[in-house]
Amino acid sequence: MHEYALMEEVVKSLLAKLAEPGVAAEGAEMEVVLKVGALAIHSAAATRQAYEVLVKGTKLENSRLNLIVEPVTLACPNCGFTGPLPEGAVDPHEQLPLAPCPQCGTLAPVTGSRGVESIELVID
Ligand SMILES: [Zn+2]
Repeated sequence: MHEYALMEEVVKSLLAKLAEPGVAAEGAEMEVVLKVGALAIHSAAATRQAYEVLVKGTKLENSRLNLIVEPVTLACPNCGFTGPLPEGAVDPHEQLPLAPCPQCGTLAPVTGSRGVESIELVID
């Protein structure tokens, strides 16, 4: 499961941060702002679910996950359209994903991030 492996890394790095001296916070006081590329995950729902499972029994339990998915961008060689696509428009498993242009329907390459863009820990 793709999301699970990704979130495992995220949670691991957050817990390492929380283990540093001087950082004292309880789960409910924390908000995790996570920005990922749309090609890094299959669905936002599965990503949230993986987070919930992974933080159980850790200092991050009951923390809030603010998940921001950076959309993929399509650049159409036919009509010149450039813009973001909605979630689920491309299969993240494809190496060179193509999607139909929302303006003219031509299959065009999409670009997007396949990884974690940023992780931020906000403590109330
Ligand atoms: Zn087009």
